[in-house]
Amino acid sequence: MSENDIKPSNFIHQIIEDDLNNGVHNKVVTRFPPEPNGYLHIGHAKSICLNFGTAERFGGVCNLRFDDTNPEKESQEYIDSIISDVSWLGFKWDGDIRYTSDYFDELYGYAVHLIREGKAYVCDLSPVEAKDYRGDFTTPGRNSPYRDRSVEENLELFEKMKNGGFEPGSCALRAKIDMAAPNMNLRDPMLYRILNMSHHQTGDKWCIYPIYDFAHGQSDALEGITHSICTLEFEDHRPLYDWFIENLPVPARPRQYEFGRLNINYTVTSKRKLKQLVDDAVVTSWDDPRMPTISGLRRRGYTPASVRNFCDAIGVTRSNGTVDMGMLEAAIRDDLDKNAPRAMCVTRPLKVTITNYPENQEEWFELPKHPKDETMGVRTVPFTRNLLIEQEDFAEVPPRKWKRLTQGVAVRLRGAYVITCEEVIKDADDNVVELKCTYDPATKGANPEGYKPKGVIHWVSADNSVPCEVRLYDRLFTEANPDADKERNFMEFVNPESLVVLSDARAEIGLKGTAPETGFQFERTGYFNVDKTSTEERLVFNRTVGLRDSWAKVQQK
Ligand code: ATP
Ligand code: MG
Repeated sequence: MSENDIKPSNFIHQIIEDDLNNGVHNKVVTRFPPEPNGYLHIGHAKSICLNFGTAERFGGVCNLRFDDTNPEKESQEYIDSIISDVSWLGFKWDGDIRYTSDYFDELYGYAVHLIREGKAYVCDLSPVEAKDYRGDFTTPGRNSPYRDRSVEENLELFEKMKNGGFEPGSCALRAKIDMAAPNMNLRDPMLYRILNMSHHQTGDKWCIYPIYDFAHGQSDALEGITHSICTLEFEDHRPLYDWFIENLPVPARPRQYEFGRLNINYTVTSKRKLKQLVDDAVVTSWDDPRMPTISGLRRRGYTPASVRNFCDAIGVTRSNGTVDMGMLEAAIRDDLDKNAPRAMCVTRPLKVTITNYPENQEEWFELPKHPKDETMGVRTVPFTRNLLIEQEDFAEVPPRKWKRLTQGVAVRLRGAYVITCEEVIKDADDNVVELKCTYDPATKGANPEGYKPKGVIHWVSADNSVPCEVRLYDRLFTEANPDADKERNFMEFVNPESLVVLSDARAEIGLKGTAPETGFQFERTGYFNVDKTSTEERLVFNRTVGLRDSWAKVQQK
């Protein structure tokens, strides 16, 4: 059995399997068609995995095509980020990167073809008038007074449109289909609009741009796409997709299939809304680790395998659904539990002085990099007189069943000695600022004689460790569905505590100089990833995810 056979299947795979068995196609060609008007998000990852994964599964190919018919909102920055995200996820597109704008000449030719056939006309209705003529779901539309222009007049006017002879908005090219069609998309849809704007790929060559619906299917046909997979909101556009293919001399007959969009709770998956979060400085950038963008997830510490596994696990269906954020987190936790080396980092340090340990002495302890995977080898950590432990691992008045440090109690420092807390030092405000402890020299790799440590806690040497900043992230929104409230804007539900920065953290010295995008499990604390702003001297860590799904517990309360 090959790897593909054991992957979960879906209804699109079934359609393709049937097409191949029935000889409808002998090779599968899909495409991923992002509009470069923002960074890709986790919803796009689902589409990427579906399009590239489906092609792979059936031995076909997948194109990467930028759907660039809207230069007002598009940019090279977005193009570059999308290319980088698709590559990072581990997918390879067929041939060169493609652009809908590569086909502007052909599309123009198709428009002329429709005019010649009496199936398209230049309409001078203003946008407001056109909307009024269009009717609505209960009222049929009315024919435009310009609908019966002659082929010659239309050819001439369209040529003039192309040559910049008209002001933007003063006219448009429309298909002549049926103004009374129950499907609004068939009420003489617009094919071309005037836009005096330079384009990131074609420069100033064009001042008319095709509408998405007119461009998409024809680009599919020109590329020999067999299965044009898109999200459900395009279902009502399918009759128009088919109308163009039937009425144009296109070289292939692609078909459109729709699947349900991915939504995840406590976040938003819409480029427009994500852009607003960036523009309003709610987050620092598109790749802020709180963002559900692919680049944000990457910076947060997600791996390509974890994102792909998540997309496999949620499956592909014909209905839109909302997936629990916990599922995405479980996917990265699974991956990092197996693959991330362990390390110790004290995030909120409390000073511990080992009073019976000589000054200037340093001893190195060997710890496994992974408790279950010996092949990962070992790491060494220095033990010295001045140590740091986690503030929350000490309690003056311990709760019942306390398994950490308190006065007069012994605990093991992970991988090193057993220590006993002898004295608690406080500042003027009654805060605990230091613990005076003793260590038991006989407990190196051995249990103590005659007493039992309460628990095991993590630690670092205060004398020899690396300073770091630890960034703790929480949900970006306080509401599970920030879009649900019709009265209130999603921005009102932004979680003001989505980022907590701990700037006094210290990690074991072996981590010094670790390159960005390296992941660790900080023992007892969570999974962390080195941020791109890290320096040799001062590491910056992003918390990818906690060790366990603590959020689920909070919600149940
Ligand atoms: P957005 O609303 O976020 O701007 P979009 O659909 O306009 O998304 P495109 O760049 O046009 O973004 O999307 C490229 C492809 O990704 C399309 O085929 C689209 O259907 C798919 N896609 C976008 N969002 C999702 C999602 N949430 N789940 C699954 N597929 C998606
Ligand atoms: Mg779109």
